[in-house]
Amino acid sequence: MSTLHQSDIIPFKADSSLNSPSAHTVKEHSSLRGFINLKKIVIKVGTRVLTKDGCLEESQIKNISDQIKWLVKKGIKVILVSSGAIGAGMGILGFKKKRDLLPFQQGLAAVGQNELMNKYSRFLRPNLTAQILLTREDLNQRQRYLNVHSSISTLWQWNVVPIINENDSVSTEEIKFGDNDQLAALVANLISADLLLILSDVDGLYSFNGKVVPTVEKVTPAIEKMAFKEKGSLTQGGMASKIQAAKIATESGIPTVIASGREKRIIEKIINGEEKGTLFLPCQKRLKARKRWIGFSSLPRGSVIIDEGAKEALIKKGKSLLSSGIIEVNGKFKIGDVVRILDEDKKELGRGLINYSSEEVRKIKGLKSNQIEEKLGYKDYEEVIHRDNLYCRAGEESE
Ligand code: GLU
Repeated sequence: MSTLHQSDIIPFKADSSLNSPSAHTVKEHSSLRGFINLKKIVIKVGTRVLTKDGCLEESQIKNISDQIKWLVKKGIKVILVSSGAIGAGMGILGFKKKRDLLPFQQGLAAVGQNELMNKYSRFLRPNLTAQILLTREDLNQRQRYLNVHSSISTLWQWNVVPIINENDSVSTEEIKFGDNDQLAALVANLISADLLLILSDVDGLYSFNGKVVPTVEKVTPAIEKMAFKEKGSLTQGGMASKIQAAKIATESGIPTVIASGREKRIIEKIINGEEKGTLFLPCQKRLKARKRWIGFSSLPRGSVIIDEGAKEALIKKGKSLLSSGIIEVNGKFKIGDVVRILDEDKKELGRGLINYSSEEVRKIKGLKSNQIEEKLGYKDYEEVIHRDNLYCRAGEESE
């Protein structure tokens, strides 16, 4: 197993007197950016980077593979999230136009994934590659999520490069990630990556004046508006979905770069601090692993609306959620489900693992903790959501 040696550490060009917003890698001034101590990276490559005229473009797969080899040589652990299965399938089967019918896409993905992996395993040699196909449910269920984590850890120990895609052949509309940008962000979250790199066919996020925005400090509604919602014939995501992925990663404390995957040595340039693409800065320190799962990977079942006092206790004081602060319960959930926590304006404040079912919370809402037993006939927990099982959007906790 290769390790990161001092001599391999990539120079950090920033002025060290300035504190980086996230302790791990990145400096806030785009002109000074660079990544030091980069240990784990998730690289997402889009279909448009990998295909031309409806077929897989070998020179591009080689280009990406060569750069991954460069990273691996430096002892950096890489996960590649690669699209292109459906695009490859179309080329192999000679279809010119994509149809939205699900079975059609499932079939294309099944044919194309094989071809895609063949090419990666050829161009990534002497590194070994491994295929992991995920559905949304694999990251939603805690046990399956941990299984994916341990499988990746094992592959890394063997110096194998995991290549991930959505399991399109079995995914249906309701359970789809939607696009690989989101999948890549959740994988970055899962393995606590130091950097999420989204390689696309555009140079970064364009502002309204047609220039690439070098740095985004926070994904605000104004930033979201910059995304034009174009849809190509082969791909799912556009800039909007890339920004959403950057939002997931940066809210978990992981810096994200969107850049052109067609530019030669783009990965090396970004890591060495050249001003390439758009850098999204992490909003906060790295969240604890469990909180990252609660906040982003698990799919919430229902919601509770809380009052101003409880909101302040949660956000400002880092307290648990008690029954007394709950005003309303929406949906149906059971003990251990993740629920959304909303304020009185229905704004999402965070998410948490709940200690009581929706029927129970409906009965105990507004009551003090010492009244729970009287109402239910038992009291298994003081808190409805314990602070350790709570992810707050404005949270500041670190790993
Ligand atoms: N999983 C799809 C594929 O391999 C790509 C999804 C996307 O474009 O985001 O073709």
